[in-house]
Amino acid sequence: MFNFPVFRAMAARAVLMAPLWFAAGSAHADLAQQLAAIDREAERDVPGALAKLETLAAEARVRRADADYREIQTARCWILGYTDAAGALALATTEIAKPVFRDDASLHVCRGYAYEQLQRNEDALAEYEFGVEQAGRMHDQKALARALALRGEQRYVRGLYADAIADLKASYELERALDDASHQRYVLNALANLYADPEVRDFDNAIETYRKLLAANEAAGNVRGQATTHFNIASTYENQGRLPLARRHFELALALEAQRAAAEHSPVDLEADLANDKRAYAVVLSKMGEHAKALAMLDAVLATLQSRYASDKTAIAAARLSRGAAYRRAGRHADALADLDAALLHFGPIHNIRFLKKIQEERAAAFGQAGDWRNAFSAQQGMLEAQQAIDKQKLDERTTRLRIQFQSEQARLRNAELQHQNILQLRDLESTARVRRWQAAALAASLALIVLLSVLVVRQRRFSRKMRDLALTDELTRLPNRRHFMAVANDAFARAGKSRSRLSLAGLDIDYFKRINDRYGHAVGDIVLQRVAHVLRSALRPGDTIGRVGGEEFLCLLPGASEQDALQVAERLRQAVLDIDCSDLPAGLAPSISIGVTENIPEVDSLDLLCQRADHALYRAKDKGRNRVELAA
Ligand code: GH3
Ligand code: MG
Ligand code: MG
Repeated sequence: MFNFPVFRAMAARAVLMAPLWFAAGSAHADLAQQLAAIDREAERDVPGALAKLETLAAEARVRRADADYREIQTARCWILGYTDAAGALALATTEIAKPVFRDDASLHVCRGYAYEQLQRNEDALAEYEFGVEQAGRMHDQKALARALALRGEQRYVRGLYADAIADLKASYELERALDDASHQRYVLNALANLYADPEVRDFDNAIETYRKLLAANEAAGNVRGQATTHFNIASTYENQGRLPLARRHFELALALEAQRAAAEHSPVDLEADLANDKRAYAVVLSKMGEHAKALAMLDAVLATLQSRYASDKTAIAAARLSRGAAYRRAGRHADALADLDAALLHFGPIHNIRFLKKIQEERAAAFGQAGDWRNAFSAQQGMLEAQQAIDKQKLDERTTRLRIQFQSEQARLRNAELQHQNILQLRDLESTARVRRWQAAALAASLALIVLLSVLVVRQRRFSRKMRDLALTDELTRLPNRRHFMAVANDAFARAGKSRSRLSLAGLDIDYFKRINDRYGHAVGDIVLQRVAHVLRSALRPGDTIGRVGGEEFLCLLPGASEQDALQVAERLRQAVLDIDCSDLPAGLAPSISIGVTENIPEVDSLDLLCQRADHALYRAKDKGRNRVELAA
């Protein structure tokens, strides 16, 4: 359980982090090669690498090559981030202050890494968030892959496991597309550690991911990476209680470290790595009952730590805890208590509750073995207190995590809501505009329709008036025809009957008209008809009506006129026809008319009768020689 996977993960990270220094990568080939060489060199000689980068930066500035300059400064920032975080922060901040680099994703991500090293996790996360967004906007896949990986780890630290896994997976896919093997390893390592986390406990995925990482490390010939991965696989198996598998992988890790010791000139941190590997391996041996071997190995580990890493009190205390537990399993309770008390002396004051719990648990068991029930009980109490503190811490972490999740969920919901509202507003605007357009179109169409209809109505009116006029008017003379005249006469007759007012009727007929036609032709006859009609109408008062009721026969209605009045009118009409100017017509043409007049006397009870009486009077006028007026008998 106390295998220091965190220490190993950090060590692994340091090794794997190095290639991240050259995150950007848009530099031209020469520069890229130079930077890669410096990158390799930086593992051994950080000041030398930094000095070379400084020279390159100065050259780039002289050449005014902004892209190269940025590339070099980013590389410097990453090296400093690993070795001198405050220096990295200062460098990144200076560059970001320049307008050209203000929104540069790589510089921001590196500044985030510097913040992270300085324990300023909030600032780090903000930079990674910016890096993800900006790199996404600029389609800078490299910067995006790296920003996602680092953000994923920040989310992991905050307990946002699902988000962290999503980021790391996305980063891994990008690194695969970019074909960057070392970054793929970095991301796989982070992802596997996350799966193996006691809070996540996705051991199967952890093992699978570690195996992928192992294959990648083998392909890259990275022996230290392979050792670290075997160590992590072993720890995962141990957490699952699969001790034989755990043992096998610790052995593989140890074998690889031995290989490193033989192959590398001065292997980085090899002693510390070995000590840690052996300690963890020994714990598994102890759990499997191989006490002698386990204790011998733990003695050796402690000896190494005390001689080579005397200042690392925590590592020493942790090793004593491991050995104390091994003694306890071996039944050597006195030795166990000596080691456990020593560990308690270190972890008590610094209040490391996880170690405290384990120590008290072991102490309780050791006191139990010794039959010292009083101390066993108080150790048990100590263990319970530690457990409660752990639970409380977990609860606090959980609350914090939930709060963070809640806040980010709230922010996400707010954003979604805002977006939704924006869309609705847009739709609203669109539909309003659409409605307006339709309204305008409908209005225009309506107006056009109204105009069209008005034109049609006017035309229809004219047409129907024309049709009515045609139906009511005689074409040749333009006088009311028989139908029209009879309608008017009927009305007048009825009105006169009601109001007992006077009404007279005159029947008119052109004399010898047949002869005119025969002598001068039908056309001249028509002209005569027109002129007669014209003078007759002109000679009448406005209230009187004259109509052409036959070929050359007319009826004239005289409302309000007595017999005597009618006679006078008839005489005037007869004279008017005689006065027609016929100078333009063949000589000898002199039209005249005969007229029969009658008044609407009480004995006459129908219009028909009135007409007959006028007709009789007219015949008499004809009989008496024509061109005269006769009154009905
Ligand atoms: P009277 O004095 O007895 O009335 O003799 P008339 O010839 O006028 O009498 P009649 O009724 O026999 O003749 C009427 C003629 O009017 C017959 C016909 O050819 C002619 N007429 C009728 N309508 C028209 C017309 O529209 N145009 C012309 N040119 N002649 C017409
Ligand atoms: Mg006639
Ligand atoms: Mg006639």
